[in-house]
Parts: sequence; structure tokens; C-alpha cells
Amino acid sequence: MDYLIKSLVNDGRIRVYLAKTTDVCNDAIRIHDLWPSAASVLGKTMTIALIMGAMLKGDEALTIKIDGNGPIGQIIVDSNAKGEVRGYVSNPHVHFSRKGKLDDISTLGYNGYIDVIKDLKLKDLYTSTVPLQTGSLAKDFTYYFLHSEQTPTLTSLGIKIKENNTSEVSGGIIIQLMPKATEDDILLIERKEKQLSSLSELLLKHHNLEDIMTELFPNNHRILSTMPISFKCHCSKNSFARGIATLGITEINNIIEEDGKAEVVCHYCHAIYNFNIQDLEIIKKGLKQK
Ligand SMILES: [Zn+2]
Repeated sequence: MDYLIKSLVNDGRIRVYLAKTTDVCNDAIRIHDLWPSAASVLGKTMTIALIMGAMLKGDEALTIKIDGNGPIGQIIVDSNAKGEVRGYVSNPHVHFSRKGKLDDISTLGYNGYIDVIKDLKLKDLYTSTVPLQTGSLAKDFTYYFLHSEQTPTLTSLGIKIKENNTSEVSGGIIIQLMPKATEDDILLIERKEKQLSSLSELLLKHHNLEDIMTELFPNNHRILSTMPISFKCHCSKNSFARGIATLGITEINNIIEEDGKAEVVCHYCHAIYNFNIQDLEIIKKGLKQK
């Protein structure tokens, strides 16, 4: 089972989010028929989105868009404060490896940006953009937290894809210095950086996240909360009906004349919604009444 734990270290001067996302990653591989390095890039983005979602509250939500102008195209991931994530990539059939390791940078490209769009249920969405610059999504998100949220952060993301194209393990950790952090806290995080360079090994070694926290911070951490996480899409026939309505009456008439029906596929979960002629007429009627 996938889950996420939030902990405090050194009397709350450091906070840690640790997530296991193996099932989420396997759901995405199955839904999108992802090839291994595409699974790595989407899996890591979904992991970071889940952790950032856990920093939100109530009905708040966020979207991460990454486009490095590489073979995979765009990566779009939505997440929320309830531990739900969904995502897709433009081209799932991408695979690059180098020296036996999945090659994220060749998959993603390196000439582009990460956009983080937060819906904090205020009048406007809050958007922040940072460049892709290091070849490592974990390092680029470390830069994002420092640059956009003014929070010194250590980010590590790990994923292992097996020969049969399933994820053996996937997860992520974010360690953040809180405003009252001391010089000793900074040194502690610096020491952890090497230990976290292979997060997937830690995830393979320990069956549960609590044991990883104990290995990383033996005597000085306190677990605040545990939350289940999952791949979940909230699409519905109604939401796509609203999408068809935005085409306008002329275009809907064209669809009725040419095909007599419409089939819409959700990018995120590949659910198929069929609209017959009666459905399309009802959408048209709704538009006329406005
Ligand atoms: Zn969907």
C-alpha cells in the first residue's frame, strides 16, 4: 500500500515528508502503457506532486507541468491535499538508458521549464515557474523550493523499474529547514544528502517508511501524520459535457451532422465517454437557454 508520512526532526526545526508511490507508479504504467524511462519521469513527478499536495489543506490542489522539449513532450500531473494524484505525458513510448540506468534527461529534454500552479481557493491561481537546469528532477525541485517558496530543501526521488516493465519500488523524500533552523540542522541535512543519493535502495531495504525515518534520524524525529495516497481521476461525463459545450452550437451541429455522436477520452485515466445524439441535443439546449 502506498502512503506518505509527515515528520518533524530536531524539535520541529526540520520537517520531513516521505512517500512510497510504487502502486501509483504501476497504475500509471498500466493506464498509459509507459515505457521504462517515461515511467521514471512521470513517476517522479507524481511523487513530488503528492508530497507538495500534502503541504496543502482542505480542497486546495495543484498542477505540475513540465516541458523540456524532449521526446516525452509535456508532463502534466494534478494532486491535492487528500493524497490523490493523476498524470499523463504526451508520448508514453519513450525509453532511454545509459550504463544500465534510466536516463531521465534524454527522456525529458533540458531546454524548458517546470510550472507549479496552485489552486488555493482564492480568486486567482498561484503560478510559479523555474527552469529545468540540472538534468535531475530532484535537484530542479530543490531549486524550486528555494527560489519560489524561500525554503531550503533537500529533495530525493527514487524509482526502480523491473525487466517486466513494472515498478519494483518508487518514492520520494523532502527535507526542509524551518525558519528557526540552526547551523547544526544545516550540517545534519548536508550529511543526509549522501545517504539519500540512492533513495530506491533505502525503499528496497525497508518494508515501511517508519523504518527509513528511524535509519535516517535515529533518536530525533517525531511522526506527525500518515496518509494513504493513490492514483485517482475525478473525471465524469458531466465534466466532459461542459467541455463539449465550450465548442459552441455551430460546432456541435457539425458533430451531429457528420458523426451523429462524439467519443471523448480522458487524458489522465483513459476513461471513454460516449455522447449520442440525444446527449448532444441536451448540451445544445443548455447553451440556448443561456
Ligand atoms: Zn479521467
